[in-house]
Amino acid sequence: MPVADFAIYCEMLERARRGKFAYAAVNVTSLTTANAVLKGLADSGSDGIIQVSTGGAAFASGAGVKDMALGAMSIAEHVHRVADRYPIYVALHTDHCQADKLDTFVIPLVEQTERRRTAGKPNLFSSHMFDGSALPLEANLDIAVKLLERFRKDDLILEIEAGVVGGEEDGVKASAAAKLYTTPEDTLEVARRLNAIEGGRYLLAATFGNVHGVYKPGHVKLKPSILKDCQDAVARTFGDRARFNLVFHGGSGSDIRDIHEALDYGVVKMNVDTDMQYAFTRAVANHFFKNYDGVLRVDGEMGNKKAYDPRSYLGLAEAAMAERVKQAVNELRAVGTTMMK
Ligand SMILES: [Zn+2]
Repeated sequence: MPVADFAIYCEMLERARRGKFAYAAVNVTSLTTANAVLKGLADSGSDGIIQVSTGGAAFASGAGVKDMALGAMSIAEHVHRVADRYPIYVALHTDHCQADKLDTFVIPLVEQTERRRTAGKPNLFSSHMFDGSALPLEANLDIAVKLLERFRKDDLILEIEAGVVGGEEDGVKASAAAKLYTTPEDTLEVARRLNAIEGGRYLLAATFGNVHGVYKPGHVKLKPSILKDCQDAVARTFGDRARFNLVFHGGSGSDIRDIHEALDYGVVKMNVDTDMQYAFTRAVANHFFKNYDGVLRVDGEMGNKKAYDPRSYLGLAEAAMAERVKQAVNELRAVGTTMMK
């Protein structure tokens, strides 16, 4: 079984929550980056998650095509083909998809999974994120409920994001910072609406000061204790079994103590993108600076084919990214936790 099926994926998440560790969920945009994740996970003895964003998927389809769903399918099919060469399980996930992109990203991928199931083939993706965090919670959950009702029939897991994240202009004011933190009331509403869907499985990205791409480091303080407040509230109201499987977004560059505290409170998936991008590019830059006369044809010379063959620096980048995946797995306490026997 190359890619984790529904039963294995559910057990992976359950084991992570009980064991207080999390899976690295790494964004990829190409065969090389996908291969790097598989290598890093295998070298760490950890299962994990390969994910594709809308932009990454469009990129993967080719600059002349720019079709998000097509690029995501292409990467997923590659992973299905190669994953069983690595002694770990990997789940395939799609990252942030806002409501206005569902029809051109998540839904075509779900339809593809449905066609594959009819033909007796495994699901294309294992899980999909719907990001309705820009909507009022009720509208967010109305869409999430519809999706989860469909997903449960397809053995797909849904990831949602709760709470309204402050906009860029709000964010510069400290008084607006409260919006960056999910409230226990929000998450109770999530549980009330989504736990009613029998057999539906979902992951919850709760915001606790983690905002990617909008704020400079240090502007917003991480407060992992918010996750504990949300878990305590839901356990009090709906029982221990209602505790959430949480997702940590925007975690690149976080303090290790904050990461571990978040794992203690039920984070089972941590998205890592920026740190991986840097590790990849750092290796390429190193190669170019070290082999300046080889990668370029300087002063009438012919350069060095060995140095400018893209395989030389992409191979180094793949290895560097795999190393960075190992570091992430280690920080997430997942080393040696694979379910693969
Ligand atoms: Zn995110």
